[in-house]
Amino acid sequence: MKSESTYKRYKTIGLISAVVLAAAAIVVFFVFTNNDSWLTKSTIQRRVLPSDLCVKTDVWYQDDTGRLIDEGEGEYIISGMEYFYEKTGVQPFLWVTSYYDEINQYYYLEDGQEAADNLMKNKYEDLFGSDGGHILIALSDSSQFTTSYFWRCYPGGNASVYVMDDEAVQILMDCLSFIYKPDGVHPGRSIRDGFIKAADTMMKDQTFVSYAVAVVIVGVLLFITIICISSIRKSNKENIAYQKTLREREKARKEEAIADQKKAELEKKKYEDDLETQYMAIPCPNCGGSGNKIRKGTVGICKYCGTAIKVGRDGKIEFLSNDD
Ligand SMILES: [Zn+2]
Repeated sequence: MKSESTYKRYKTIGLISAVVLAAAAIVVFFVFTNNDSWLTKSTIQRRVLPSDLCVKTDVWYQDDTGRLIDEGEGEYIISGMEYFYEKTGVQPFLWVTSYYDEINQYYYLEDGQEAADNLMKNKYEDLFGSDGGHILIALSDSSQFTTSYFWRCYPGGNASVYVMDDEAVQILMDCLSFIYKPDGVHPGRSIRDGFIKAADTMMKDQTFVSYAVAVVIVGVLLFITIICISSIRKSNKENIAYQKTLREREKARKEEAIADQKKAELEKKKYEDDLETQYMAIPCPNCGGSGNKIRKGTVGICKYCGTAIKVGRDGKIEFLSNDD
């Protein structure tokens, strides 16, 4: 009976645990599949750049090469950049150039980085002057590495203070370089998608999501642990109660046996006492012998002279006879 109820309970616990684990797995799965491993996580809650810190212009891009932005693709790019501007308050500007080739010979050296930074800085000032609310994004192909494209970002002062911190710039770089498909049917669309993804990502603090996942996991583990502990406790209690019942039963049985034995002993003793009281030492009225023991209500024979002696129930000598 006991093992059956325990089995049932373990089965229930197993079912509940499985359901909870499955639910948690689904939550975690959805949360993690929404995260792209190639994309830098946003850990900062960013606010839109105040509109008075960025004077909006109608020029969105400039293609110095004439190779990378085909006819009609510019509209896609602008729509993506407009979305980015609405979300962040920072107006982007795409500069398609062959800066990579220009500084190629020392690009990977520190001097090359400095040259590239200066190139971006000068271009930014040419375009926006002292307006620090924009971000200049340069896209360069390479005559040397024909399938490689190089992205570079230079945020203005206010843009970098308010929204385009290093992490945000990295998110934008990740999105543009990962999503950009120069050989696709609509390369402009891929640039648009890159801007949209970047804006959505950087304006959402994903640490909240990580915390939520952590909370869900901890909660689930806690829940299962509590169920298991309470079950084990219940089982222990039941077991203890069962053992106690067993002990009590055993004790009762022993006590009963002892009582029975005592009763039997008592009865035996009583019987013997009764016998003892029933046998009386009778002095023979005939010969005076005093060693005769005769039970009450019976007739005994004197072992000395053979006289029959009747003893009444009340112990009185009632009848005498002599064979002689
Ligand atoms: Zn006698």
